[in-house]
Amino acid sequence: MTLPKYAYFEGKIVPYSEAKVGVMNHTLNYGTGAFAGVRAYWNSDREQLYVFRPIDHFKRFLQSGRLLQAKLDYTPEDLRDITLELIRTEGLHEDCYIRPLIYNADEIIGVKLHDLHAKITIFTIPFTRYIEHDEGAHVTISSWRRIDDNAIPARGKITGAYINSAYVKTTAVLSGFDEALVLSNDGHISEGSAMNVFMVRDGILITPPPTENILEGITRRTIMALAREEFGLEVIERRIDRTELYICDEFFMTGTAAAVTAVTRVDHQDIGDGAMGPITKRLRDLYDDLVRGKLEAYKDWNEPVYVA
Ligand code: PMP
Repeated sequence: MTLPKYAYFEGKIVPYSEAKVGVMNHTLNYGTGAFAGVRAYWNSDREQLYVFRPIDHFKRFLQSGRLLQAKLDYTPEDLRDITLELIRTEGLHEDCYIRPLIYNADEIIGVKLHDLHAKITIFTIPFTRYIEHDEGAHVTISSWRRIDDNAIPARGKITGAYINSAYVKTTAVLSGFDEALVLSNDGHISEGSAMNVFMVRDGILITPPPTENILEGITRRTIMALAREEFGLEVIERRIDRTELYICDEFFMTGTAAAVTAVTRVDHQDIGDGAMGPITKRLRDLYDDLVRGKLEAYKDWNEPVYVA
C-alpha cells in the first residue's frame, strides 16, 4: 500500500513522515482510540471527487470519542473541512479512503480513560476494492462471537475492539473464505468483520437492529433509505437466525469499504440460487451512482472536494 504524502496531525497538515507518536503512546499500548472510515469517489464525467456523507461519519466518530471520554474541541463540520483541505493537499483525483483517528497523546503507564489528552489525526490514501469477490462472496459462520456492548461498546469504532474483527476476518480467510458472519453471544447473526448484513426473504429486506451489537453503519442507513425510497421495498429490523441463511433468497453485506457486497455461499452451500440476486444488484448499482454524485435527490450526501 502506498503511504500518504500528508497527514493532519497536532492541529495542522504536515508531511506524513512527521506524523508520529512514541512507543509509550497510551492508545498504541491499550487500544484506547477510535476511528472512522470515510470514502471519496471520483466522478469522471464531472472531474470531481465527492466525499460520501462526511458529516454523518464525523458525528459517529465524535460519538465514539465520547464513548472513550475524549475531550475534543471539533465539530463534524470542522472535521469535514479539514478532510477536504487534506485531500486537496494530497492532490487525489481518484477513489480514496479517509481515515480519521482519535488517539490519546499521553505517554504513561496505566489503563484508564480519564485525565487523558485526546487528539485527532487524519490521513487519506487511494482505494478501490475491499473484498475481492464482491459480486459473490463465500462466507463462513465465525466460531468467534461478536463483542458485547456490556464489555466493549459495539456501536463505536474503538481501536482495541477491532481485535475481535481481526480474529473473525483472519480465521475466515485462512480457512479459504472471503469473509465471515459473526454471531452475537446469544447466537443471532450480528454482522461481518467490518460490514453490516442484509437478508432478502419474499421481497422484504431484513437487517439486525442496533441492539444486536452491530456497528450502526452509515452504508446500512443509506441502503435502508434507498430500498424504501427508490424501490418501495419494505425494510425491517429484526434478529436473523443462522438457519435463515439456508432458505433466504438473497444476502449481502454493506460497509464504507465493502460498499454492497453480494454473499452467494455460506459454508459451501449456495444462498438462493448461488448468484447475486436482483435486489442486491439493483441496490449495488444504485449505491455506486449515489456515491459518485449521480443522484440529484441525495446530493447533500456528496461533498465536492474541488471547487469549480
Ligand atoms: N461493522 C463494523 C464492525 C465496521 O467496522 C464497519 C465499517 N465501518 C461497518 C460495520 C460498516 O459501517 P459503515 O457502513 O458505516 O462503514
